[in-house]
Amino acid sequence: MKQKTGMKFAKTNLMIAGMILLFISCKTVQPFAEADRLLITSGTAETPFRILQVTEKPDSVLLRKPCANFKNFAGDSTFQLLVARLKKTLEVENGVGIAASQVGLSKNIFLFMRLDLPDKPIHVAVNPKIVHHPDTTVCFERDGCLSIPDRSGNSVRYTWIDVEYQNEKGDKIRERLEGYSRQNTFTAVIFQHEYDHTRGILFTDKLCK
Ligand SMILES: [Zn+2]
Repeated sequence: MKQKTGMKFAKTNLMIAGMILLFISCKTVQPFAEADRLLITSGTAETPFRILQVTEKPDSVLLRKPCANFKNFAGDSTFQLLVARLKKTLEVENGVGIAASQVGLSKNIFLFMRLDLPDKPIHVAVNPKIVHHPDTTVCFERDGCLSIPDRSGNSVRYTWIDVEYQNEKGDKIRERLEGYSRQNTFTAVIFQHEYDHTRGILFTDKLCK
């Protein structure tokens, strides 16, 4: 009798534990921490972000911070606002690429201009990776950065790269990007420059000797 009651008790406990576990695992991981969400929702889709500058000490600390990957971003309204505001920021700054780390968000996402495609659309790269590149590098002329005022320099870059990333809808993209000269197109260089931002690396770290 006692043993049976004990077993029943253990069974009930097991069931409760199971239900709690199920509840925890069903709760989706939010793509943003609260501070990040507040920064993004501090303006509308038409509000550009302030771009961090290496010349400001607190900014430069954030610019050097490696970024974290995204989860569950597709369809998230805060994520869509982030992309819209980054596009607006790039447009008003007249840039060809911008990373979230440049506006104070340590997340693996950047926008880059497709100079290699008709009408030069802006593409979004989430959780980007460079999976393959040649051994040879070139000296790309007059690299520049929205976060480094009044400075340009020649940087060491690969002539092409095989990349993997997710677009803003969450689709997985794998492609080869080419173009490394100002005289032609330089989509591959833009991707490398922005990808470096997600790892806290700036073009001034890669100047040609
Ligand atoms: Zn930059």
